[in-house]
Amino acid sequence: MEVIRTVHEMKQCITAFHKEKKRIGFVPTMGALHKGHLALIVRALQENDKVVCSIFVNPLQFNNSGDLSKYPRNLDRDLAMLKTIGCDTVFTPEVDDIYPEPETKVYEFGLLDKVMEGRFRPGHFNGVAIVVKKLFDIITPHQAYFGEKDFQQLAIIKALVKLENLKIDIVSCPTFREKDGLAMSSRNMRLSKEQRAKAPMIYRILSHVRERYPVESPEEVKKWVYQEFEKEKPAINLEYFEIVDSESLQPLDKPKPTGGVTACIAVCFGEIRLIDNMVLNA
Ligand code: AMP
Repeated sequence: MEVIRTVHEMKQCITAFHKEKKRIGFVPTMGALHKGHLALIVRALQENDKVVCSIFVNPLQFNNSGDLSKYPRNLDRDLAMLKTIGCDTVFTPEVDDIYPEPETKVYEFGLLDKVMEGRFRPGHFNGVAIVVKKLFDIITPHQAYFGEKDFQQLAIIKALVKLENLKIDIVSCPTFREKDGLAMSSRNMRLSKEQRAKAPMIYRILSHVRERYPVESPEEVKKWVYQEFEKEKPAINLEYFEIVDSESLQPLDKPKPTGGVTACIAVCFGEIRLIDNMVLNA
């Protein structure tokens, strides 16, 4: 497994891949890897000749400096995990190498980034789009893999590819969960024992929501979810729960007879913020 630490060396490596006519798969991550990340890389390995996994904690997408400084980092452990699954190339650049100059780019995603994560984390998706575009330019992948766990991010990335006219296939991969239903996340390792024991309630509530919709209106379902979380205050705070159109991501006020509908949620356990989602209607 090759570990590449600079943009310059990464570009040289990619030039060699292209000369050998290799099909390149790319999986961007922020490290602190878990089985959900590995599932994306394993799939990329099956579908490409070469796979690059990047590990880069992108400061531009953190709207909260505490969240950035406390974001889990463990490169040695990550590299050991990547080795076990046969990942060929890992890219671990420094912040100054990715951002030699201050970034001023502002992306226009219409209504996509005005709701949910975009509303509660101002600037987050602009930071995501900037880093992903930079990484795409360096790695020039044929296919890039993203998790459905970050449902809104996936929509933003698809919009970015359209906006920038990129010839990259965006492959969406199902959410990998713990046995108790909790969506795997690097942030889970920051939960206390008590918080970890409570955290599967997110999945339980989403599963109930799937049964209630569309028997009840989105508004009724939403009211029930808020009532359930009210009982858990102040240890657990529901930041938002929305039932949205899976394409436009706009909240629905009545059930949609056809087309995709997804329930999305963000919950804070103290200062640890977890997100999840569930398809209600594909
Ligand atoms: P992150 O390191 O959190 O930026 O995540 C890197 C990629 O892994 C993103 O495309 C995420 O959506 C994806 N990912 C994170 N957690 C999961 C999960 N539990 N299941 C599937 N994909 C995931």
